This record gives sequence, structure tokens and C-alpha cells, in this order.
Amino acid sequence: MSRPSLLVLGAGPAGLACADALASAGAAPSLIERDLQPGGLCRTVRYKDCYFDIGGHRFLSDSPEVNAIWSEVMGEDLLRVRRRSRIFYQGRFFDYPLRPLNALAGLGPVEAARCLASYAASRLGPAAMGEDFDSWMSSRFGRRLFETFFKTYTEKVWGIPCSQLSSDWAQERVRGLSLGRAVRKALWPPAAGERSLSEEFYYPRRGPGQFCERYAERARRNGALLEYGRPVLSVLREGERVAAVLLGDARGGVERRDCSEVFSSIPITALVGKIHPPPPPSVLEACARLSFRHFITVNLIYEHGESFPDNWIYVHAPEVPFGRVQNYRNWSADMVPSERLTTLGVEYFVSAQDPIWSMEESELVRRSAVELDRMGLAPHRALREGFAVRVANAYPVYRVGYREPLNTVLDYLRSIPNLHLAGRAGLFRYDNSDQALLSGLGAARAYLRKERPSPALEEVVYA
Ligand SMILES: Cc1cc2nc3c(=O)[nH]c(=O)nc-3n(C[C@H](O)[C@H](O)[C@H](O)COP(=O)(O)OP(=O)(O)OC[C@H]3O[C@@H](n4cnc5c(N)ncnc54)[C@H](O)[C@@H]3O)c2cc1C
Repeated sequence: MSRPSLLVLGAGPAGLACADALASAGAAPSLIERDLQPGGLCRTVRYKDCYFDIGGHRFLSDSPEVNAIWSEVMGEDLLRVRRRSRIFYQGRFFDYPLRPLNALAGLGPVEAARCLASYAASRLGPAAMGEDFDSWMSSRFGRRLFETFFKTYTEKVWGIPCSQLSSDWAQERVRGLSLGRAVRKALWPPAAGERSLSEEFYYPRRGPGQFCERYAERARRNGALLEYGRPVLSVLREGERVAAVLLGDARGGVERRDCSEVFSSIPITALVGKIHPPPPPSVLEACARLSFRHFITVNLIYEHGESFPDNWIYVHAPEVPFGRVQNYRNWSADMVPSERLTTLGVEYFVSAQDPIWSMEESELVRRSAVELDRMGLAPHRALREGFAVRVANAYPVYRVGYREPLNTVLDYLRSIPNLHLAGRAGLFRYDNSDQALLSGLGAARAYLRKERPSPALEEVVYA
């Protein structure tokens, strides 16, 4: 019998973990990646000896297994970094995570009293179980606090009103946030040795891409074949199963690759669009109801060493078009080649139809620098150069009602017995890199244990 030929699609954390787990078990997969480097959203872009993330990436996980992998792969190059972040709103900076006294002082006595009154009123009523983010958050924090500290930023990230955003996102992301806990912490701050990991995080010395490159190298040593610059063009079905995948190359060539199993971490909507013969119309219609938000980071290099003290700043101010600013030296001094330089990443959350998505790079650089100057974060005259990185499908949009079409698409894909799904865009889950990595491990292990990939997969991964 011929050896099974295993293809892992996408070399982000999910694909890397999947390929490494398969390779370690002796299954020798091919890891197929469109880009010329591994990492996906978790890669690091190198530009003239400066290193930039696709949005700053904290390494923070509850999973002992992920923590063990990070530390095995990175060794002494996994730094423990103190977090400092603030919110910019109404021309002022507020500490984030919120510190009640700082927040109330920044708001001024009248607005602070209004926020407290609206918070008290919200605590008297029952917490809303509603489907949308707006009512879920307002019922827990009070409308005024919600509008001041959450609404504008959330709408920047997602590009839709909070009333159209599913509360699933809040339940995944804001679950642990409590004003009561914040007040307790403000009054009785933990001793230095007791600082939780949300106040500190791990970070590879040269950014998350350094981890991904080393993890890819480990997969290669274990027997995986790494194939970069190979876009997946089509996924060919014969009968119930995937029989082959068509791969492109840099010269515009197309190669047919027969396969026995496919592990996909490419965006689920792209995968559905590549399947031939195409899925039934009901699946295509459901797929068209799922959407992603895109992302641009405008990376700027300044000629002066000093800048603001934060790792990053959230920009809630609606008049400023971007949502976050990273200061990479404060993540790791090794991200910047010289003390004379400061490198900032200005982050835009966009949709394909937004003019910013197709804006000229020079204009993006100019506008970002002007705005940073206006905010008092970096003087325009010190700008040396800048460039933009555009990333499609960065955020799966949890629109109210998205679960129904998502389940239709997942049910269809799970009916293909040799197709296994993993990853953030691959499963349409707003996951961090640790969960994406776990999903890749889960997909590989389910296959190695000869389990049908789903529906057990999600239970294995996210238990
Ligand atoms: C701005 C931002 C900030 C983030 N911050 C953090 C953070 O602080 N901490 C954290 O842990 N996580 C963070 N994340 C999330 C983290 O980046 C993701 O969870 C993780 O990268 C997902 O891994 P993945 O392998 O599922 O997908 P991806 O990283 O998206 O990888 C998918 C891969 O598939 C490839 N691909 C797509 N289409 C094709 C095709 N047709 N053919 C071949 N290859 C293809 C892509 O090039 C990519 O390499 C952040 C994400 C963003 C966008």
C-alpha cells in the first residue's frame, strides 16, 4: 500500500503545530504556505534590521502544553515583559486595564458621577442575556462606561455598530473583566512577586515570527517538508473525499498534488470557494454570509530614541482613523537595531470596500505620522521612513446571527472524511495564537488516533 500523503495548508501557528505533531509521529506531512515565510498573522516582518509584528503579539496562555512548546522552542529568547498600555480618548490617556481612580479622575467629576450612576443602575437590573454586544456590555458596566471605554474602539475593530455584533465576542474576550475586581485591585494592589500574567507576558526576543521560524525548523527536522511560496488554488473532490490540491508557484505554474488527508488552516470562506466540484448552493449562500475584517499596520521608523512608555496604546477617539499604536522597543529592545531609532506600528481595522484598504502606501505613512504628531506621541519631523503591511481576513466577524451560516458551512466541511480543520480563520474563531496552535495539535492528534475529525475536534481542542 502506498504511503499516505498528508497536506497541511497554511503555516501559521495552527498549521505549524499540526505539521510538527504529524511529523513527530512519523507521518511526514507537506506544509503548504502561500507566503515566503511561516507565521501567518503571527509572523514578524523584518525591514532594514527593524522587526515589526502584524499587530503586537503577546504570548499568554492558560495551556501548560502551549507554554511548554513556547519555552522549548525559544529557550532563553522567550522574554518576560511588563505590560503597559493606555487608552487615548477625548484627548486624554487612561490606564488600561482600567484603574478606577485614574479613569474617574480623567473623566472629571461630572462625567465620573454620571458613569458611576449608570453603572449602579445597571447593577440593580438583571444582566442582559441578549444576543448583541451593546446590550450585553451596557447591562454589566452601565451605558456611560460602555460608551466611553468600549463602544468606539469595538466599532473601529469590527466596522459595524455594537448592536449588530454578537455577544459571543464579549463572552470570549471581556468575560473576566469586572469593575468590582478593578476597584479591589486599586485599593489593594498585588505585591511585585504576585503580578499576574495579564500584567506581564512572554514575548520572543525578535517577535512572534522568531518563534514561528524555529517551530517550522523543528517540524522540518522531525520530517515535515516545508513548501513556501505555494498558494493553494483549488481543492479537488472525487466522490466524498478530497483527492488532490492544485498548488501555484512563483512562475505562475500549477501543480496537482494528490493527497490522502488535508489539514486546512486557510480561511474557511476561501477553502469553500476553492472546492471543486463546488459545494451545494445552500453552503455557498451560508458562506457568503460570513465575513472577515482586514488589517493594515503602518510601520514607522523615527530618528529619535525616546518615545512614549507603553507597549501599545488603544485609540478609542473616533476622530482618529486607526485603532492602536505599538511601540516595539518596549516589547523587546532587540526589535530595534539602534538606540537612536524608535519603531511604531499604527494599526487600522478595515473592510475591503473602505478607501483606506486600497490607499497608497505613501499616503498611509503620511496620514499616520501626522496623526501621531497631533496626539503628541511622535514628532513628524523625526520620521525617517515607513511602510505598510496589508493583511486580509484578520478578524472573523461575529455578526449577530453568524452561528447559523457558520454551522451550515462547518457541517458540510466535516462531511468530507479526509478534510480536517484548524486555526483562527480556518475555524472562523476569534482565537489567539495559543488556541490556534492547540487546534492544529488537536486536528493532527484526532487523525493519528483515527478519530473522525469532527464534531469531536472542537471538544478536544477547546475543552
Ligand atoms: C492584529 C492582531 C493582533 C494579534 N495579537 C495577538 C496576541 O497578542 N497574542 C496572540 O496569541 N494572538 C494574537 N493574534 C492572533 C494570532 O495572530 C492568531 O490567532 C494566529 O496567528 C492564528 O493562527 P492560524 O495558524 O490559525 O492562522 P494564520 O496565522 O492566519 O495562518 C494562516 C496561514 O495560511 C496561509 N494561507 C492563507 N491562504 C492560503 C492559500 N490559499 N494557500 C496557502 N496558504 C494560505 C496564510 O498565508 C497564513 O500563513 C493577533 C491577531 C491580529 C490580527
